[in-house]
Amino acid sequence: MCQVGEDYGEPAPGEPTPTPRPSREQKCVKCKEAQPVVVIRAGDAFCSLGAGPGCKDAALEDGNRDCFKAFYVHKFRAMLGKNRLIFPGEKVLLAWSGGPSSSSMVWQVLEGLSQDSAKRLRFVPGVIFVDEGAAFGKSLEERSKTLAEVKPILQATGLPWHVVALEEPRLDPQSLASPPAAAQTEALSQLFCSVRTLTAKEELLQTLRTHLILHMARAHGYSKVMTGDSCTRLAIKLMTNLALGRGAFLAWDTGFSDERHGDVVVVRPMRDHTLKEVAFYNRLFSVPSVFTPAVDTKAPEKASIHRLMEAFILRLQTQFPSTVSTVYRTSEKLVKAPRDGPAAGDSSPCCLLCMCALDVDAADSATAFGAQTSSRLSQMQSPTPLTETRTPPGSCCSPGVGRVQGCGQGACRREDPQACIEEQLCYSCRVNMKDLPSLDPLPPYILAEAQLRTQRAWVLQEIRDCLIEDSDDEAGQS
Ligand SMILES: [Zn+2]
Ligand SMILES: [Zn+2]
Repeated sequence: MCQVGEDYGEPAPGEPTPTPRPSREQKCVKCKEAQPVVVIRAGDAFCSLGAGPGCKDAALEDGNRDCFKAFYVHKFRAMLGKNRLIFPGEKVLLAWSGGPSSSSMVWQVLEGLSQDSAKRLRFVPGVIFVDEGAAFGKSLEERSKTLAEVKPILQATGLPWHVVALEEPRLDPQSLASPPAAAQTEALSQLFCSVRTLTAKEELLQTLRTHLILHMARAHGYSKVMTGDSCTRLAIKLMTNLALGRGAFLAWDTGFSDERHGDVVVVRPMRDHTLKEVAFYNRLFSVPSVFTPAVDTKAPEKASIHRLMEAFILRLQTQFPSTVSTVYRTSEKLVKAPRDGPAAGDSSPCCLLCMCALDVDAADSATAFGAQTSSRLSQMQSPTPLTETRTPPGSCCSPGVGRVQGCGQGACRREDPQACIEEQLCYSCRVNMKDLPSLDPLPPYILAEAQLRTQRAWVLQEIRDCLIEDSDDEAGQS
Protein backbone atom coordinates (compact mmCIF):
# COMPACT_ATOMS: atom_id res chain seq x y z
CA MET A 1 0.00 0.00 0.00
CA CYS A 2 1.22 3.38 -0.93
CA GLN A 3 2.49 5.44 1.94
CA VAL A 4 2.39 8.83 0.28
CA GLY A 5 0.08 11.15 2.08
CA GLU A 6 0.87 9.78 5.54
CA ASP A 7 2.52 13.06 6.24
CA TYR A 8 0.40 16.02 5.21
CA GLY A 9 3.01 18.52 6.25
CA GLU A 10 2.06 21.93 7.53
CA PRO A 11 -1.60 22.82 7.41
CA ALA A 12 -2.42 25.22 4.58
CA PRO A 13 -2.78 28.89 5.39
CA GLY A 14 -6.21 29.22 6.83
CA GLU A 15 -6.42 25.64 8.03
CA PRO A 16 -5.93 26.02 11.73
CA THR A 17 -6.89 22.49 12.75
CA PRO A 18 -5.02 19.39 11.70
CA THR A 19 -7.15 17.06 9.64
CA PRO A 20 -8.18 13.82 11.31
CA ARG A 21 -6.36 10.83 9.90
CA PRO A 22 -8.59 8.27 8.24
CA SER A 23 -9.03 5.17 10.34
CA ARG A 24 -7.69 1.77 9.26
CA GLU A 25 -11.12 0.33 8.49
CA GLN A 26 -12.32 3.31 6.47
CA LYS A 27 -12.48 2.96 2.69
CA CYS A 28 -12.31 5.53 -0.08
CA VAL A 29 -15.69 7.16 -0.58
CA LYS A 30 -15.46 6.73 -4.37
CA CYS A 31 -13.95 3.34 -5.16
CA LYS A 32 -14.91 1.77 -1.81
CA GLU A 33 -11.74 -0.34 -2.03
CA ALA A 34 -8.55 1.57 -1.43
CA GLN A 35 -7.48 2.95 1.88
CA PRO A 36 -8.09 6.69 1.92
CA VAL A 37 -5.27 9.13 2.51
CA VAL A 38 -7.14 12.41 2.15
CA VAL A 39 -10.06 13.45 4.34
CA ILE A 40 -11.76 16.54 2.99
CA ARG A 41 -14.67 16.54 5.39
CA ALA A 42 -15.88 13.99 7.88
CA GLY A 43 -17.12 11.10 5.76
CA ASP A 44 -15.39 12.27 2.58
CA ALA A 45 -12.18 10.29 2.50
CA PHE A 46 -10.42 9.66 -0.79
CA CYS A 47 -7.63 7.40 -1.88
CA SER A 48 -4.71 8.98 -3.66
CA LEU A 49 -1.49 7.82 -5.20
CA GLY A 50 0.32 11.09 -4.93
CA ALA A 51 3.33 11.82 -7.04
CA GLY A 52 5.99 10.16 -4.96
CA PRO A 53 8.76 8.35 -6.86
CA GLY A 54 8.01 4.68 -7.39
CA CYS A 55 4.77 5.04 -5.56
CA LYS A 56 2.58 5.27 -8.61
CA ASP A 57 3.89 2.03 -10.13
CA ALA A 58 3.50 0.11 -6.91
CA ALA A 59 -0.01 1.36 -6.43
CA LEU A 60 -1.04 0.74 -10.01
CA GLU A 61 0.12 -2.84 -9.74
CA ASP A 62 -2.28 -3.25 -6.88
CA GLY A 63 -5.04 -2.02 -9.17
CA ASN A 64 -5.53 1.06 -7.08
CA ARG A 65 -7.11 4.25 -8.28
CA ASP A 66 -6.48 7.88 -7.55
CA CYS A 67 -9.91 9.04 -6.57
CA PHE A 68 -8.80 12.31 -4.98
CA LYS A 69 -7.10 13.44 -8.15
CA ALA A 70 -10.07 12.41 -10.26
CA PHE A 71 -12.39 14.31 -7.93
CA TYR A 72 -10.18 17.41 -7.98
CA VAL A 73 -9.67 17.49 -11.73
CA HIS A 74 -13.34 16.81 -12.36
CA LYS A 75 -14.34 19.84 -10.31
CA PHE A 76 -12.08 22.07 -12.35
CA ARG A 77 -13.27 20.72 -15.67
CA ALA A 78 -16.90 20.76 -14.59
CA MET A 79 -16.65 24.42 -13.60
CA LEU A 80 -15.33 25.31 -17.04
CA GLY A 81 -17.73 22.97 -18.84
CA LYS A 82 -20.80 24.12 -16.95
CA ASN A 83 -20.20 27.73 -17.82
CA ARG A 84 -19.09 27.24 -21.43
CA LEU A 85 -17.48 30.64 -21.57
CA ILE A 86 -14.10 29.76 -23.00
CA PHE A 87 -13.90 28.93 -26.67
CA PRO A 88 -11.45 26.67 -28.50
CA GLY A 89 -8.40 28.62 -29.61
CA GLU A 90 -9.16 31.55 -27.32
CA LYS A 91 -6.19 33.16 -25.57
CA VAL A 92 -6.52 32.94 -21.80
CA LEU A 93 -4.23 34.70 -19.35
CA LEU A 94 -3.68 32.81 -16.07
CA ALA A 95 -3.14 35.26 -13.22
CA TRP A 96 -0.56 33.53 -11.03
CA SER A 97 0.26 35.10 -7.68
CA GLY A 98 2.61 32.33 -6.60
CA GLY A 99 0.08 31.27 -3.95
CA PRO A 100 -1.38 27.77 -3.56
CA SER A 101 -4.71 28.25 -5.36
CA SER A 102 -3.42 29.98 -8.47
CA SER A 103 -0.48 27.57 -8.62
CA SER A 104 -2.93 24.71 -8.54
CA MET A 105 -4.94 26.39 -11.29
CA VAL A 106 -1.90 26.66 -13.56
CA TRP A 107 -1.18 23.00 -12.84
CA GLN A 108 -4.75 22.02 -13.75
CA VAL A 109 -4.45 23.83 -17.05
CA LEU A 110 -1.13 22.10 -17.78
CA GLU A 111 -2.72 18.75 -16.95
CA GLY A 112 -5.64 19.62 -19.20
CA LEU A 113 -3.32 20.45 -22.09
CA SER A 114 -1.46 17.16 -21.79
CA GLN A 115 -4.62 15.04 -21.94
CA ASP A 116 -5.43 12.96 -25.01
CA SER A 117 -7.50 14.63 -27.67
CA ALA A 118 -10.99 13.98 -26.33
CA LYS A 119 -10.31 15.54 -22.96
CA ARG A 120 -7.74 18.12 -23.89
CA LEU A 121 -8.33 21.76 -23.01
CA ARG A 122 -8.63 23.71 -26.23
CA PHE A 123 -7.85 27.25 -25.19
CA VAL A 124 -4.41 28.86 -25.50
CA PRO A 125 -3.03 29.84 -22.10
CA GLY A 126 -0.32 32.26 -21.00
CA VAL A 127 0.74 33.11 -17.44
CA ILE A 128 1.22 36.49 -15.77
CA PHE A 129 2.99 37.24 -12.50
CA VAL A 130 2.72 40.71 -10.96
CA ASP A 131 5.67 41.85 -8.88
CA GLU A 132 4.06 43.90 -6.12
CA GLY A 133 7.25 44.51 -4.17
CA ALA A 134 7.14 48.29 -4.56
CA ALA A 135 3.81 48.42 -2.74
CA PHE A 136 5.43 46.87 0.35
CA GLY A 137 8.57 48.99 0.13
CA LYS A 138 10.72 45.96 -0.72
CA SER A 139 14.28 46.56 -1.77
CA LEU A 140 15.39 45.74 -5.29
CA GLU A 141 17.49 42.87 -3.90
CA GLU A 142 14.49 41.32 -2.17
CA ARG A 143 12.41 41.71 -5.28
CA SER A 144 14.95 40.11 -7.56
CA LYS A 145 15.24 37.26 -5.07
CA THR A 146 11.52 36.61 -5.42
CA LEU A 147 11.76 36.84 -9.20
CA ALA A 148 14.61 34.34 -9.17
CA GLU A 149 12.18 31.86 -7.59
CA VAL A 150 9.30 32.82 -9.86
CA LYS A 151 10.97 32.68 -13.26
CA PRO A 152 12.13 29.03 -13.25
CA ILE A 153 8.59 27.95 -12.36
CA LEU A 154 7.19 30.02 -15.22
CA GLN A 155 9.77 28.64 -17.59
CA ALA A 156 8.96 25.09 -16.53
CA THR A 157 5.31 25.54 -17.52
CA GLY A 158 6.39 25.86 -21.14
CA LEU A 159 3.64 28.46 -21.61
CA PRO A 160 4.18 32.05 -22.74
CA TRP A 161 4.67 34.12 -19.59
CA HIS A 162 4.82 37.74 -18.51
CA VAL A 163 6.40 39.19 -15.38
CA VAL A 164 5.41 42.80 -14.75
CA ALA A 165 6.04 45.19 -11.90
CA LEU A 166 3.04 46.92 -10.41
CA GLU A 167 4.57 50.33 -11.02
CA GLU A 168 5.35 49.78 -14.68
CA PRO A 169 3.98 52.48 -16.95
CA ARG A 170 1.23 51.14 -19.13
CA LEU A 171 -0.02 53.79 -21.47
CA ASP A 172 2.53 52.99 -24.10
CA PRO A 173 2.56 49.40 -25.37
CA GLN A 174 6.17 49.89 -26.45
CA SER A 175 7.22 50.21 -22.84
CA LEU A 176 5.82 46.85 -21.78
CA ALA A 177 9.11 45.09 -21.67
CA SER A 178 11.07 47.88 -20.08
CA PRO A 179 11.88 47.65 -16.38
CA PRO A 180 10.25 50.28 -14.19
CA ALA A 181 12.23 53.44 -13.67
CA ALA A 182 13.39 54.25 -10.16
CA ALA A 183 11.09 57.27 -10.09
CA GLN A 184 8.03 55.12 -10.73
CA THR A 185 9.03 52.66 -8.05
CA GLU A 186 9.47 55.50 -5.63
CA ALA A 187 6.11 57.02 -6.60
CA LEU A 188 4.28 53.76 -5.99
CA SER A 189 5.99 53.21 -2.64
CA GLN A 190 5.06 56.74 -1.63
CA LEU A 191 1.47 56.20 -2.69
CA PHE A 192 1.16 53.08 -0.54
CA CYS A 193 2.95 54.69 2.38
CA SER A 194 0.53 57.59 2.30
CA VAL A 195 -2.55 55.37 2.65
CA ARG A 196 -3.73 55.70 6.22
CA THR A 197 -5.46 52.34 6.75
CA LEU A 198 -4.56 48.77 5.89
CA THR A 199 -8.09 48.23 4.57
CA ALA A 200 -7.68 50.97 1.97
CA LYS A 201 -4.19 49.69 1.17
CA GLU A 202 -5.50 46.22 0.39
CA GLU A 203 -8.26 47.60 -1.79
CA LEU A 204 -5.87 49.89 -3.65
CA LEU A 205 -3.46 47.04 -4.28
CA GLN A 206 -6.24 44.88 -5.62
CA THR A 207 -7.43 47.68 -7.89
CA LEU A 208 -4.00 48.42 -9.34
CA ARG A 209 -3.23 44.74 -9.80
CA THR A 210 -6.49 44.21 -11.70
CA HIS A 211 -5.89 47.24 -13.92
CA LEU A 212 -2.41 45.98 -14.76
CA ILE A 213 -3.48 42.42 -15.53
CA LEU A 214 -6.28 43.67 -17.77
CA HIS A 215 -3.92 46.03 -19.50
CA MET A 216 -1.48 43.19 -20.17
CA ALA A 217 -4.31 40.96 -21.38
CA ARG A 218 -5.41 43.60 -23.88
CA ALA A 219 -1.88 44.37 -24.99
CA HIS A 220 -1.19 40.70 -25.74
CA GLY A 221 -4.56 39.73 -27.19
CA TYR A 222 -5.98 37.67 -24.32
CA SER A 223 -9.76 37.82 -24.12
CA LYS A 224 -10.10 35.95 -20.82
CA VAL A 225 -8.25 36.19 -17.52
CA MET A 226 -8.36 33.28 -15.06
CA THR A 227 -7.83 33.94 -11.37
CA GLY A 228 -7.22 31.29 -8.73
CA ASP A 229 -9.81 32.34 -6.12
CA SER A 230 -10.79 29.26 -4.09
CA CYS A 231 -14.24 28.99 -2.57
CA THR A 232 -12.74 29.67 0.87
CA ARG A 233 -11.22 32.87 -0.48
CA LEU A 234 -14.44 33.87 -2.21
CA ALA A 235 -16.50 33.29 0.94
CA ILE A 236 -14.13 35.61 2.81
CA LYS A 237 -14.26 38.11 -0.03
CA LEU A 238 -18.03 38.09 -0.08
CA MET A 239 -18.28 38.94 3.60
CA THR A 240 -15.45 41.47 3.36
CA ASN A 241 -17.02 43.23 0.42
CA LEU A 242 -20.36 43.43 2.19
CA ALA A 243 -18.60 45.19 5.03
CA LEU A 244 -16.84 47.48 2.57
CA GLY A 245 -20.09 48.70 1.07
CA ARG A 246 -19.76 46.69 -2.13
CA GLY A 247 -23.00 44.77 -1.67
CA ALA A 248 -24.27 45.90 -5.07
CA PHE A 249 -21.29 44.29 -6.83
CA LEU A 250 -21.09 40.92 -5.07
CA ALA A 251 -22.16 39.00 -8.16
CA TRP A 252 -19.30 40.54 -10.15
CA ASP A 253 -16.76 40.36 -7.34
CA THR A 254 -17.38 36.72 -6.42
CA GLY A 255 -19.20 35.01 -9.33
CA PHE A 256 -17.69 32.62 -11.88
CA SER A 257 -17.43 35.23 -14.57
CA ASP A 258 -16.94 38.94 -14.32
CA GLU A 259 -17.85 40.88 -17.45
CA ARG A 260 -17.53 44.37 -16.05
CA HIS A 261 -14.49 45.16 -18.16
CA GLY A 262 -16.26 44.50 -21.44
CA ASP A 263 -13.62 43.20 -23.84
CA VAL A 264 -11.75 41.03 -21.30
CA VAL A 265 -13.75 38.67 -19.08
CA VAL A 266 -12.34 37.52 -15.74
CA VAL A 267 -13.22 33.92 -14.77
CA ARG A 268 -12.66 32.04 -11.52
CA PRO A 269 -12.40 28.32 -12.30
CA MET A 270 -11.12 27.38 -8.81
CA ARG A 271 -14.23 28.64 -7.07
CA ASP A 272 -15.42 25.12 -6.25
CA HIS A 273 -12.17 24.10 -4.53
CA THR A 274 -11.60 24.71 -0.84
CA LEU A 275 -8.22 25.84 0.47
CA LYS A 276 -7.91 22.48 2.18
CA GLU A 277 -8.38 20.55 -1.06
CA VAL A 278 -5.90 22.84 -2.78
CA ALA A 279 -3.35 22.27 -0.03
CA PHE A 280 -3.75 18.48 -0.24
CA TYR A 281 -3.52 18.43 -4.00
CA ASN A 282 -0.46 20.68 -4.15
CA ARG A 283 1.22 18.59 -1.49
CA LEU A 284 0.43 15.24 -3.07
CA PHE A 285 1.37 16.28 -6.58
CA SER A 286 4.27 18.57 -5.68
CA VAL A 287 2.74 21.63 -7.29
CA PRO A 288 5.34 24.38 -7.01
CA SER A 289 4.34 27.68 -5.43
CA VAL A 290 6.21 30.76 -4.25
CA PHE A 291 5.59 32.58 -1.00
CA THR A 292 5.10 36.27 -1.63
CA PRO A 293 4.05 38.46 1.29
CA ALA A 294 0.66 40.15 1.19
CA VAL A 295 -0.05 43.62 2.52
CA ASP A 296 -1.41 42.09 5.69
CA THR A 297 1.15 39.36 6.25
CA LYS A 298 2.02 39.45 9.94
CA ALA A 299 -0.61 42.14 10.54
CA PRO A 300 -2.70 41.64 13.68
CA GLU A 301 -6.16 40.24 13.28
CA LYS A 302 -7.97 43.53 13.68
CA ALA A 303 -5.65 45.51 11.43
CA SER A 304 -8.03 45.56 8.49
CA ILE A 305 -11.54 44.51 7.52
CA HIS A 306 -9.96 41.88 5.26
CA ARG A 307 -7.90 40.35 8.05
CA LEU A 308 -10.76 40.45 10.52
CA MET A 309 -13.20 38.80 8.14
CA GLU A 310 -10.65 36.13 7.21
CA ALA A 311 -10.03 35.27 10.85
CA PHE A 312 -13.77 35.28 11.55
CA ILE A 313 -14.73 32.97 8.68
CA LEU A 314 -11.84 30.55 9.21
CA ARG A 315 -12.50 30.29 12.92
CA LEU A 316 -16.20 29.74 12.34
CA GLN A 317 -15.31 27.11 9.76
CA THR A 318 -13.38 25.08 12.32
CA GLN A 319 -16.44 24.89 14.56
CA PHE A 320 -19.06 24.72 11.82
CA PRO A 321 -17.54 22.97 8.81
CA SER A 322 -20.26 24.11 6.42
CA THR A 323 -19.64 27.81 6.98
CA VAL A 324 -17.62 28.38 3.83
CA SER A 325 -19.89 26.32 1.62
CA THR A 326 -22.98 28.09 2.96
CA VAL A 327 -21.55 31.52 2.22
CA TYR A 328 -20.23 30.31 -1.11
CA ARG A 329 -23.58 28.84 -2.17
CA THR A 330 -25.12 32.22 -1.44
CA SER A 331 -22.70 33.83 -3.86
CA GLU A 332 -23.84 31.42 -6.56
CA LYS A 333 -27.40 32.66 -6.27
CA LEU A 334 -26.56 36.32 -6.74
CA VAL A 335 -27.72 37.74 -10.05
CA LYS A 336 -26.11 40.54 -11.96
CA ALA A 337 -29.00 42.91 -12.36
CA PRO A 338 -28.50 46.05 -14.36
CA ARG A 339 -29.24 49.19 -12.51
CA ASP A 340 -32.65 50.68 -13.14
CA GLY A 341 -33.28 54.27 -13.92
CA PRO A 342 -31.52 56.82 -16.04
CA ALA A 343 -28.05 55.54 -15.11
CA ALA A 344 -28.66 52.13 -16.70
CA GLY A 345 -27.51 51.23 -20.18
CA ASP A 346 -24.27 50.94 -22.05
CA SER A 347 -23.35 54.53 -21.54
CA SER A 348 -23.89 54.43 -17.78
CA PRO A 349 -20.82 55.67 -15.97
CA CYS A 350 -18.68 53.17 -14.14
CA CYS A 351 -16.35 53.58 -11.20
CA LEU A 352 -12.92 54.76 -12.21
CA LEU A 353 -11.20 52.32 -9.84
CA CYS A 354 -13.27 49.14 -9.62
CA MET A 355 -15.10 49.61 -12.96
CA CYS A 356 -18.49 48.70 -11.51
CA ALA A 357 -21.58 50.70 -12.44
CA LEU A 358 -21.78 53.74 -10.21
CA ASP A 359 -24.06 52.96 -7.32
CA VAL A 360 -24.18 56.50 -6.07
CA ASP A 361 -27.27 58.58 -6.58
CA ALA A 362 -26.94 62.29 -6.73
CA ALA A 363 -29.54 62.64 -4.02
CA ASP A 364 -27.92 60.00 -1.76
CA SER A 365 -24.46 61.24 -2.15
CA ALA A 366 -25.19 64.66 -0.76
CA THR A 367 -26.04 63.11 2.58
CA ALA A 368 -23.90 59.99 2.52
CA PHE A 369 -20.70 61.72 1.60
CA GLY A 370 -21.18 65.19 2.83
CA ALA A 371 -19.64 64.49 6.19
CA GLN A 372 -16.74 62.36 5.06
CA THR A 373 -15.90 64.56 2.10
CA SER A 374 -15.74 67.71 4.12
CA SER A 375 -13.64 65.95 6.76
CA ARG A 376 -11.25 64.74 4.12
CA LEU A 377 -11.03 68.06 2.41
CA SER A 378 -10.35 69.80 5.65
CA GLN A 379 -7.49 67.37 6.29
CA MET A 380 -6.02 68.16 2.94
CA GLN A 381 -3.29 70.68 2.86
CA SER A 382 -4.24 71.93 -0.50
CA PRO A 383 -2.77 75.17 -1.83
CA THR A 384 -6.32 76.31 -2.49
CA PRO A 385 -8.27 75.30 0.61
CA LEU A 386 -11.53 73.60 -0.25
CA THR A 387 -13.73 73.18 2.71
CA GLU A 388 -17.43 73.41 3.31
CA THR A 389 -18.01 75.19 0.04
CA ARG A 390 -18.10 71.91 -1.83
CA THR A 391 -21.20 71.68 -3.99
CA PRO A 392 -23.08 68.45 -3.40
CA PRO A 393 -23.24 66.22 -6.46
CA GLY A 394 -26.45 66.75 -8.32
CA SER A 395 -26.80 70.46 -7.93
CA CYS A 396 -25.37 72.51 -10.71
CA CYS A 397 -23.59 75.80 -10.69
CA SER A 398 -24.19 78.33 -13.39
CA PRO A 399 -23.14 77.05 -16.80
CA GLY A 400 -20.19 78.60 -18.46
CA VAL A 401 -17.96 78.86 -15.41
CA GLY A 402 -14.67 77.04 -15.86
CA ARG A 403 -16.19 74.74 -18.41
CA VAL A 404 -12.98 73.42 -19.82
CA GLN A 405 -12.29 71.37 -16.71
CA GLY A 406 -15.93 70.65 -15.95
CA CYS A 407 -16.60 67.12 -14.83
CA GLY A 408 -20.05 67.25 -16.35
CA GLN A 409 -21.43 64.50 -14.11
CA GLY A 410 -23.72 66.79 -12.28
CA ALA A 411 -21.29 68.27 -9.84
CA CYS A 412 -19.50 71.42 -10.61
CA ARG A 413 -16.31 71.72 -8.70
CA ARG A 414 -14.94 72.49 -12.09
CA GLU A 415 -11.75 73.92 -10.74
CA ASP A 416 -11.16 70.92 -8.45
CA PRO A 417 -9.87 67.81 -10.23
CA GLN A 418 -9.87 65.87 -6.97
CA ALA A 419 -13.63 66.25 -6.61
CA CYS A 420 -14.04 65.29 -10.25
CA ILE A 421 -12.20 62.02 -9.63
CA GLU A 422 -14.20 61.38 -6.52
CA GLU A 423 -17.46 61.73 -8.38
CA GLN A 424 -16.40 59.02 -10.77
CA LEU A 425 -16.04 56.54 -7.91
CA CYS A 426 -18.58 54.14 -6.44
CA TYR A 427 -19.58 54.33 -2.80
CA SER A 428 -17.02 51.81 -1.59
CA CYS A 429 -14.13 53.31 -3.55
CA ARG A 430 -15.00 56.77 -2.27
CA VAL A 431 -14.88 55.50 1.29
CA ASN A 432 -11.50 53.88 0.64
CA MET A 433 -10.06 56.88 -1.09
CA LYS A 434 -10.79 59.06 1.88
CA ASP A 435 -7.85 57.27 3.51
CA LEU A 436 -5.57 58.78 0.91
CA PRO A 437 -4.38 62.25 1.82
CA SER A 438 -4.29 63.15 -1.86
CA LEU A 439 -5.41 61.48 -5.05
CA ASP A 440 -2.58 63.08 -7.04
CA PRO A 441 -0.13 60.17 -6.66
CA LEU A 442 -2.60 57.72 -8.24
CA PRO A 443 -1.06 56.15 -11.34
CA PRO A 444 -1.14 58.44 -14.38
CA TYR A 445 -3.35 56.12 -16.41
CA ILE A 446 -6.12 56.46 -13.83
CA LEU A 447 -5.80 60.23 -13.73
CA ALA A 448 -5.71 60.36 -17.52
CA GLU A 449 -8.88 58.29 -17.73
CA ALA A 450 -10.57 60.60 -15.24
CA GLN A 451 -9.66 63.58 -17.35
CA LEU A 452 -10.79 61.91 -20.54
CA ARG A 453 -14.16 61.10 -19.05
CA THR A 454 -14.48 64.59 -17.75
CA GLN A 455 -13.89 66.02 -21.20
CA ARG A 456 -16.21 63.52 -22.82
CA ALA A 457 -18.96 64.33 -20.37
CA TRP A 458 -18.43 68.02 -20.96
CA VAL A 459 -18.75 67.60 -24.73
CA LEU A 460 -21.90 65.54 -24.23
CA GLN A 461 -23.32 68.23 -22.05
CA GLU A 462 -22.51 70.86 -24.65
CA ILE A 463 -24.32 68.83 -27.30
CA ARG A 464 -27.31 68.36 -25.03
CA ASP A 465 -27.46 72.06 -24.40
CA CYS A 466 -27.76 72.60 -28.13
CA LEU A 467 -30.51 70.02 -28.52
CA ILE A 468 -33.00 71.13 -25.96
CA GLU A 469 -36.00 69.84 -27.90
CA ASP A 470 -34.59 66.33 -28.39
CA SER A 471 -33.35 65.97 -24.87
CA ASP A 472 -36.94 65.98 -23.60
CA ASP A 473 -37.77 62.98 -25.78
CA GLU A 474 -34.66 61.16 -24.66
CA ALA A 475 -35.51 61.65 -21.05
CA GLY A 476 -38.84 59.96 -21.66
CA GLN A 477 -37.21 56.96 -23.30
CA SER A 478 -34.38 56.23 -21.00
ZN1 LIG B 1 -10.58 5.44 -4.29
ZN1 LIG C 1 -15.46 51.48 -7.21
